[in-house]
Amino acid sequence: TKMVHLFGGAATTAERSKELLGGKGANLAEMASIGLPVPPGFTITTEVCTAYYANGEQFPADLAADVENGIAHIEGITGKRFGDPANPLLVSVRSGARVSMPGMMDTVLNLGLNDKTVVGLVEASGDPRFAWDSYRRFIQMYADVVMGLDHAAFEEALEIAKEDKGFYLDTEMTAEDWQALVLEYLAIVERETGAPFPQEPKDQLWGAIGAVFASWESDRAKVYRRLNSIPGEWGTAVNVQAMVFGNMGDTSATGVAFTRDPATGERAWYGEWLINAQGEDVVAGIRTPQYLTRQAREKAGAKPLSMEEAMPETFAELGRVFDTLETHYRDMQDIEFTVERGKLWMLQTRSGKRTAKAALKIAVDMAAEGLISEEEAVQRVDPGALDQLLHPTLDPKAPRDVLTKGLPASPGAASGKIMFDADSAEKAAGMGEAVILVRVETSPEDIHGMHAAKGILTARGGMTSHAAVVARGMGRPCVSGAGGLAIDGAARVLRVAGRELREGEVITLDGSTGEVMAGEVPTLLPELVGDFATLMAWADRVRRMKVRTNAETPQDAQVARDFGAEGIGLCRTEHMFFDAARITAVREMILADSEEGRRAALAKLLSEQRGDFAAIFGVMAGLPVTIRLLDPPLHEFLPTREEDFAEVAAAAGVGIEALKARANELHEFNPMLGHRGCRLGVTYPEIYEMQARAIFEAACDVAAESGASPVPEVMIPLVATRREFDLMKGVVDTAAKAVFAEKGREIDYLVGTMIELPRAALMAGEIAQSAEFFSFGTNDLTQTTIGISRDDAGRFLTQYVDKGIFVTDPFVSLDVEGVGQLIELAAERGRAARVGIKLGICGEHGGDAPSIHFCEKTGLDYVSASPYRVPIARLAAAQAAL
Ligand code: ADP
Ligand code: MG
Ligand code: MG
Repeated sequence: TKMVHLFGGAATTAERSKELLGGKGANLAEMASIGLPVPPGFTITTEVCTAYYANGEQFPADLAADVENGIAHIEGITGKRFGDPANPLLVSVRSGARVSMPGMMDTVLNLGLNDKTVVGLVEASGDPRFAWDSYRRFIQMYADVVMGLDHAAFEEALEIAKEDKGFYLDTEMTAEDWQALVLEYLAIVERETGAPFPQEPKDQLWGAIGAVFASWESDRAKVYRRLNSIPGEWGTAVNVQAMVFGNMGDTSATGVAFTRDPATGERAWYGEWLINAQGEDVVAGIRTPQYLTRQAREKAGAKPLSMEEAMPETFAELGRVFDTLETHYRDMQDIEFTVERGKLWMLQTRSGKRTAKAALKIAVDMAAEGLISEEEAVQRVDPGALDQLLHPTLDPKAPRDVLTKGLPASPGAASGKIMFDADSAEKAAGMGEAVILVRVETSPEDIHGMHAAKGILTARGGMTSHAAVVARGMGRPCVSGAGGLAIDGAARVLRVAGRELREGEVITLDGSTGEVMAGEVPTLLPELVGDFATLMAWADRVRRMKVRTNAETPQDAQVARDFGAEGIGLCRTEHMFFDAARITAVREMILADSEEGRRAALAKLLSEQRGDFAAIFGVMAGLPVTIRLLDPPLHEFLPTREEDFAEVAAAAGVGIEALKARANELHEFNPMLGHRGCRLGVTYPEIYEMQARAIFEAACDVAAESGASPVPEVMIPLVATRREFDLMKGVVDTAAKAVFAEKGREIDYLVGTMIELPRAALMAGEIAQSAEFFSFGTNDLTQTTIGISRDDAGRFLTQYVDKGIFVTDPFVSLDVEGVGQLIELAAERGRAARVGIKLGICGEHGGDAPSIHFCEKTGLDYVSASPYRVPIARLAAAQAAL
């Protein structure tokens, strides 16, 4: 296939594949083809990157000719020539992966400048200051990105030059100042590398192309890929594009914009711009960007003119471009533009990242505007991102000790201990601390710390700064540009409003208002109304699968119902045993050396369990409730710490030695595969008998009191054979019969099993002859199929994901191609044996969108997720059905 695709003018490629051109390249071609002003250029495909790595980092043989042809294309349109001292063509070399990886890949601007072409640029532009400014920018960027030199040396030289002149701003530097600095920069390169700065534009170009490919394998790109499940083999495209100049004086500018507000979703243009600057200046925080619209400027009470006021005509044109792009892409766009001497140029567009709140509002608004359908609106919101909305916000009535106010860069509230660098933040979070990462500004090296933190606070940077963009993407609350902060990273203290806060002190951020507060501020649970409710109603209309919840307390069950759960998919009864009041009876039961002794202890538990179930049936009135009989090995209920033995022994009325001996007897080398699940029921049927009795008594009582009919589904765990299941079903049915006779009423119920062992999946046809439902216990099924333990896998899973052995952690996202086969096979065999057998999933995967897609494909009847993930599951199930 073609290695290089052109854009700009009639030669614009018809190719639109992001897999091939990367997101940036595909959209540049698209914008060019719909007549928007895009500087011409060409895209080297992602396949070339993949081939480059496959060939030991060698460019394919024919690439050189294609690149030359691409340069000729740009020369043809611009009338400038690459390397021509009289009228030099300058280009940018830009990376572009399939999905945007903000700040991950490096861009080189003004490429093609050298000691001769810079003179040509002075002539051609009639602006020596601009030409020398561009050259010094190029040397620094190229040295940094391509040659790997530390940019600090260059920044220091610039600082000294400004100090010598008594300047404060870069804009005060004259042509002569920049020219002098260029000489210094060239000397720095020669000193650091032992060779002169590459003067030949072609060499510069190949150096930059190689650097873009190399940045794909940089550490920060790898971290980003791991956090976002992006496969390493995708590769990046390279875009080479004619430069347009925003640094040609006061009729030139550069900026970034969103067609709607990315934080709130409000339908208002939103962005930042800088007069007389190049693109990187806006995001790098070197100068404070200005507001795009007059309204935003006035609202913020800022002085420097907005673009709307300073360049009304160009601004009006930009507005027309926004409208064209929204109508064309039918989504909110994130745009980069440059104005060169009054002429507008588009440099990038993509679907804009947005907060969950904005995503909801934009989807619902666009459906109302008729831009998209309700089904599309449902597809537009990332279910995982809803997580942000399902979490608490600050209690407006709680007192706030406000330290300062910054920009509301990413909404939500968070409290935590101050940490001044990413490594400390990660470490503290690893020890279970809530952490707020506090930085002057963030860079891609801080990603792991941002991920570990509950919230991010920066002293510098705007709404489109690195911190803001990344925090929004991660769903972390962020306050950026809090100018009132003085951060002393070395002394590990933060000074603000005449106060000092040290590392480890607690602060609270409100990412929706920009407020920074001392101490912890209480929070409120979210109310799910408005756009959220609207979108959920649309989702429920298209959804086929039911959504249940995993809950074992009436409180959790109630939260889940409020979030729209349609039943309980997993009620783990062992959690009920850990209650302080009951654990003694549980231990008595374990320590008893006869069936009689066990029955006596179980009798004490019966009324407690009955109460648990009655409360849950009450909340879940008329909805199915799947109750799993006791699952964990018994030793989990015994003490482990020496000091607890005496207390437990006394409470249970046995000697310490006897207790220790029993604990020893129960010790297992591999409890996950040991005496647990139905194996407990087989050896101690009286336990399951008591639990079954509690379930049916509770169901009868609730039915008698409220008239609602509970729908118990009794689930036998860890079944491997039909005989095991039959024995346990016998225990349950006998208990049911006895209770119904005593109570004088009957309740419909089902007895089914978890499919969580490979053998159970294989034997599903036979087990389904007896079992009335299957629930896929994918946590255990993943453990037992791959043979890795969830509790120990942490030590190597990260490396497994890094090395591409797993694309994602199989405990987070179902291993569809492996474990998935067992589920498909069991579903198929189960259905063949029992027409209409009820099938569900109750592992963690029931709240994970990609896993839910698999469940839809496999035709499961429901998924079950933890209460706070129920809305996520509802939306994901709807998307899977579309
Ligand atoms: P990123 O993916 O990090 O945003 P880009 O490739 O978009 O990197 O480049 C960063 C900035 O460089 C852009 O926002 C734009 O302002 C500037 N830039 C890139 N190419 C050009 C060009 N051909 N002319 C002028 N500015 C450019
Ligand atoms: Mg960009
Ligand atoms: Mg299990």
